[in-house]
Amino acid sequence: MIKPMDSVESFIRRIPKTETHLHIEGALPYDLLVELDDSRFPSQPFFRERAYKYPDFVNFETLLIDHAVQWFDSAERYHVACKRMFESMASLNVKYVETSFHLHMVEFIGVDGRDILSAIKSAVPEGMEVRVIGGMVRNGYTEVMKPIIETLHQWDELDGIDLHGQEWLDLEEWAPPVWRRCADAGKIIKAHAGEFGGPDKVYEAIDVLGSRRIQHGVRAVEDEKLVARLAEENCVLDVCPLSNEKLGVFPSLEDHSLRRLIDAGIPCTISTDDPLCFANDIVDEYIALHSRLGFSKEELAQLAKNGFVHARMSESKKSQYIAEIDAALTQ
Ligand SMILES: [Zn+2]
Repeated sequence: MIKPMDSVESFIRRIPKTETHLHIEGALPYDLLVELDDSRFPSQPFFRERAYKYPDFVNFETLLIDHAVQWFDSAERYHVACKRMFESMASLNVKYVETSFHLHMVEFIGVDGRDILSAIKSAVPEGMEVRVIGGMVRNGYTEVMKPIIETLHQWDELDGIDLHGQEWLDLEEWAPPVWRRCADAGKIIKAHAGEFGGPDKVYEAIDVLGSRRIQHGVRAVEDEKLVARLAEENCVLDVCPLSNEKLGVFPSLEDHSLRRLIDAGIPCTISTDDPLCFANDIVDEYIALHSRLGFSKEELAQLAKNGFVHARMSESKKSQYIAEIDAALTQ
């Protein structure tokens, strides 16, 4: 039986949590735009209504970019946005974050990517660990981006790389060597796959890019062999349930594949993806899993623990946060 919301909600708020699938531009605090110009940015725009669903991915992506470029025009603006974004996550007891910034912004705004990286890292509050990931799109290997992409493995402050965006585009031949070099340099290797693309895109991410950390991956359920393999190889899926609902990956949250993936033994974590566009926070995600998919406190605790088990942080810190989650369960 589902327990009353208030006890579960206070449990969710209390436990240490992670976010490992979060786009900085898509996490721009909307209030910053309202403060910038409230005649252009109403405090309650249509797309931040709880029931709003995007007609398709292109519509969503266009809306995201149109809003993000109004704010992100300098490294300083990244710092200001990240400071506010990290502080509000800290208030929800988020302790570890892997967040990606869109490397192609370097081309749009003409700022050195390493300056953006430093601006993000200097915004991290005490008590939170943040790993910064550089995100690229499949067709983004332009003349300007080429020398940047080719040297990413040498950027000391960069913690990892990710493949963003439109899954229906083919993977171009520049990408696998870039992923290999970054893996060899010890960076976190990610790729978006199995959101709008089917199982073939997840196979591509693990076999061609060597990623063991898939952003979404929720459509892997369409292929039993793939599900078994993800479980066997301990591949992590960084799942964003409300994003999947709002973008129509499943008709509704009640149809989500998360439980089937977990039951098959695949380690999954929970994140918000693009809270600018979905008006969600990490507590909303856990609450939705409880109230609409019947996840118990124990199951929510396991999802939170998965975030720490697979985090790039010291073993002693991991154990500390996992012990705190276990202690909250027995209270
Ligand atoms: Zn994403």
